[in-house]
Order: sequence, then structure tokens, then C-alpha cells
Amino acid sequence: MDGAYGDSTRSVKAVGSESIPGQPVAPVPIPASTYHLSPDETEPLDSYGRSSNPSWRQLEAALAELEGAAAALTFGSGMAAITSVLRVVAKPGATVVVPSDGYYQVRRYAAEYLAPQGITVVEAATAEMCGAAAEADVVLAETPANPGLDVVDLHRLAMTCRSRGGTLVVDNTTATPLGQQPLSLGADLVVASATKSLSGHSDLIAGYVAGSQPELMAAVERDRLLAGPILGAFEAWLVLRSLGSAGLRFERQCQNAHALAVMLRSHPAVRSVRYPGLPDDPAHGLASSQMKRFGGLVSIELADAAAVHALVERSALLIASTSFGGIHTSVDRRARWGDPVASGFARISAGIEDTDDLLRDVEAALS
Ligand SMILES: *Cc1c(COP(=O)(O)O)cnc(C)c1O
Repeated sequence: MDGAYGDSTRSVKAVGSESIPGQPVAPVPIPASTYHLSPDETEPLDSYGRSSNPSWRQLEAALAELEGAAAALTFGSGMAAITSVLRVVAKPGATVVVPSDGYYQVRRYAAEYLAPQGITVVEAATAEMCGAAAEADVVLAETPANPGLDVVDLHRLAMTCRSRGGTLVVDNTTATPLGQQPLSLGADLVVASATKSLSGHSDLIAGYVAGSQPELMAAVERDRLLAGPILGAFEAWLVLRSLGSAGLRFERQCQNAHALAVMLRSHPAVRSVRYPGLPDDPAHGLASSQMKRFGGLVSIELADAAAVHALVERSALLIASTSFGGIHTSVDRRARWGDPVASGFARISAGIEDTDDLLRDVEAALS
């Protein structure tokens, strides 16, 4: 039945609490570390907050529901989720593929922590990931990749990994589960930062892992217990509180990103635009076949760094900030962080402003 609902309905229902007269309609934060034990030493559901707690369970149930997964596990950040999964699936002697055009700190982790353990780290561009997967034990794919917004064929990638017993992990941060469901396309695990569009208010850092294979999820949960990269109960509550409006926010963000991409593509100050929703974008065909929505990110190239700075300065709506997915439309010049992109390359994250206001503002700021 849930499959018949739209994304806003799914978002609202995902945070729904049991209907008990006199109890709060919305979830309440329960910031506890220790719980009363039973005198007979039978183990209660909750004993110590690092194993599990009621705040996580509510959020994990909602995330699993949205990702179409049997289970989800929350983490203190997207990187905490990704590195926990890598510790579980990448063993010495293995070959691990990471995107050369994806989130930069994943490459750093692979180079600084995996490679020294005798793990072969291969960096492959998102467009060439299927080829690299043919030789790999573990593939971490990101689609659309941040910041270049290239797309990889997840079904084909999953088939390639499966044919040689490899594990496919997909970073679903940019698309969100409202844009695509990698598990339904054959991924073994989803990892994501909930810091971005899912929570969407630029006020917390969180991550999660979702999957349906009990042994894999149990191993990730074990790593979380022993390594301890956990999400605080208050942040878990804030993510859950934000999830109810995720469908509504994401819909507007996608609409704004699409409108911006169309306007920017024909603007003389813009050298190039990438948005998987544009019919002539190189990723459009693939994106249309595996995504429900094309996301809130648009990547553009202006003449140079000064042009990006001038765009933000002249605009009344754009803010300069890293990260993305918040309610404000934001601009990040990625070369400042060392991403392998041109100095005038900017990643724009569409906010939830009125589309006409945003278009008018950005067009005027560019001229
Ligand atoms: C931001 C981001 C991460 C890291 O998430 P944090 O919550 O900042 O740790 C990982 N992958 C992608 C694609 C991201 O955009």
C-alpha cells in the first residue's frame, strides 16, 4: 500500500508515531545514555545508548522505510557511515573502487587508511565505474556524483559486482531516497549523509547505512558498537523531525534546480551547466531510467573564481557555503577544497525559495 503514496505522504508517514490518546503526536527526544537493568539480569531492549536507543530506532525505521530497506543504522556523520561500511567490507588484499569525481574525503580516507592495510584502492570516474567494477571486490559508487553530477548505471553496476561476488555500496546523499532507491536497483548497501537534503536545515551532521542483508547489517552494527561513531539522541530527534517535510522541501529544491539549470544554460556568462534533468545533459538518459527526481544540485562553470564570488556578492538570495541541501540556495566554489575542477566551477544547491524570485535574482546577479 505504501508504494502507492507520493513522497510527501511517505515522508509524513515515515515519522508517524503510534496513535495513543494523550501521547505526543510527534516524536520526543530521549537523551539517555544508561537505562535501568532488570534484577534478574535478563537483557532489556535498552541498556546502554551506544548499542541502541529509542531515538535511533524511530529514525532508523523511518530511513529504512524511505530507502525501501529491511533496516537502517544511524551514524554521527555521513563519513562515519561510509568508513564503518568500508571497515566491514574492505579486507586486506581486496580491491576497492572509489569515485575519482565523488566526495573528496572518501578518496582521502581510502588513500590514508585503506591503502596502508594492503587494500588496493582504485579511483575511477563515475562514468567509467562499470569497467573498474569488473576487477573489484568492493565498489563504492556515488550517483549523481558530488560535485560533477555524473550518473552511473546502478543496475548494470550491480550485475557486474554480483557476477564476481563483489559488494556494491552506493552513496545516496545527492539523490536522497526520494530521488532514487539504489537497493531496488541491486546495491548491497546504501550509505548517505543525512546532513544534506534529508534533514535540510543546515543545523546538524548525521549519516546512515541502509540495507536488507541481515549479516552485512549486523556486521556494520557491530562496527558501530565497537568503534563508537554514533549519533547523539538529540540530533537523531532533529533528523526525524525534519524528515516529515523532506518530501515537500525536496520537491521544491528539484523544481528550483531544474529552473535554474534551464536559465543558466542559455546565459552568456555561464560556460557550462550540468544537471541530470536537462534533456541534453550527458547523464539524462540514465538518470531518467533510474531516478524519480533529478535532485537539487546544479553545477556550473563561470570564467574564474572572481566570477563566482561576484555572483554571490551581487545576489540577494544566494549564500556562499559548503555542504548542500538546506533551505537557502547556496553556492560552493569546489576548487577551494581541492576538488579536481576548474577554478570557476561552482556547485549550486537549490533551496526552497519561490522559483520566480530565485530565477530573477540569479539572472540579475550574473549580468
Ligand atoms: C557530505 C557528503 C558526505 C559526507 O557527509 P558528512 O555528513 O559531512 O560526514 C559523503 N558523501 C557525499 C556525497 C556527501 O555529499
